[in-house]
Amino acid sequence: MTRHPGWSAESSLVHAGSPRDLAEPLVAPPALTSIFVSAGDPAAGPGYARNGNPTWTAVEEALGAIEQAEAVLFGSGQAASMALMLALASGRDRILLPRDGYYNARVLAARLRPHGAEPVAVDLQDLGEIERELGRGPALLWAETPTNPLLRVADLRALARLAAAADAPMIVDNTVATGVLQKPLELGANASLCSLTKSVAGHSDLIMGAVVTRDPALAAELRTWRTLGGGIAGPMESWLVLRSLKTLPLRIARQSETALRIATWLAGHPRVTAVHYPGNCEPTLALARAQMPGGFGPLLSFEVAGGAAAADAVVAAAGLIVPATSFGGAESTWERRGRWPGEQAPESLIRLSAGLEPADDLIADIEQSLG
Ligand code: PLP
Repeated sequence: MTRHPGWSAESSLVHAGSPRDLAEPLVAPPALTSIFVSAGDPAAGPGYARNGNPTWTAVEEALGAIEQAEAVLFGSGQAASMALMLALASGRDRILLPRDGYYNARVLAARLRPHGAEPVAVDLQDLGEIERELGRGPALLWAETPTNPLLRVADLRALARLAAAADAPMIVDNTVATGVLQKPLELGANASLCSLTKSVAGHSDLIMGAVVTRDPALAAELRTWRTLGGGIAGPMESWLVLRSLKTLPLRIARQSETALRIATWLAGHPRVTAVHYPGNCEPTLALARAQMPGGFGPLLSFEVAGGAAAADAVVAAAGLIVPATSFGGAESTWERRGRWPGEQAPESLIRLSAGLEPADDLIADIEQSLG
């Protein structure tokens, strides 16, 4: 249905993709098809479902409404990242990525090196270092905040200013916050990437990704890479995301409250040596409050005394919290992050995703797991 300009993003999320014609079902079914009737006219719709699908369009309208932008849907966060790197890094000497950011973005950038851009690891909190690196030649700035898994917060407005001065595009991996809690495009980013697999889908049952941008040429380029590379979302999964989007603002607000309560509680526990959460970490607390006014997200991490073995024992002792990777689901999950080869997290770091269970139940489970 057509979005009314006066609607809030929340209303658009509830109504996206719902037909309003007389006798139409209120909930449109997923377009489970590989081809569309086209009567030989190449301008008559997508024709072939690698080019487009009405269920994607509904999801894209909803995601676009959150950030007043154009959204391009992909089959995974990584497919979205690959399209972005192909669209923006080629022709540039370097791609600057956070040292503590999502591991597979760094691996992907290294794999794409033959296309021209050399990955360079940077600290996004060190604006002097970013300015120096941007001054060394044409680059793409690949920001991520809060980072996964250390939840470090970078100043997006300041980074965007530096990138613009160096004529470098800046993208933000917004997976941890989602567009509901943080709006990178308003702060000056050229594009914002989200693994919808996490909080947006929110039920640990599918993999999908998206990019939002206010640059129509970039959106068109991303769609071309999607069609040619084939990193497309399935219509059934897209339909599930459309359903998830209706509750996203409610879920992420509740998960943010729960995560903040847990982080605050953990900070007072004698076995916990460090807690990482944007909502209680100095010196970036004021920045996090300004940049994420609606909450700090479901993800936090903490370190325990006794090294990797002690952390593994804590994770294994949980009853309610599921020992599993990923985040943003209805079920709380946790894992010792250093168990993944290549991950640069401290060895006893446990990453916890607060789900939809009451905070008291989760704190009781963590308390008995810490022993
Ligand atoms: N960005 C971040 C911050 C992630 O945590 C992930 C996945 O864990 C991705 C991107 C990649 O998303 P996907 O797993 O949907 O391909």
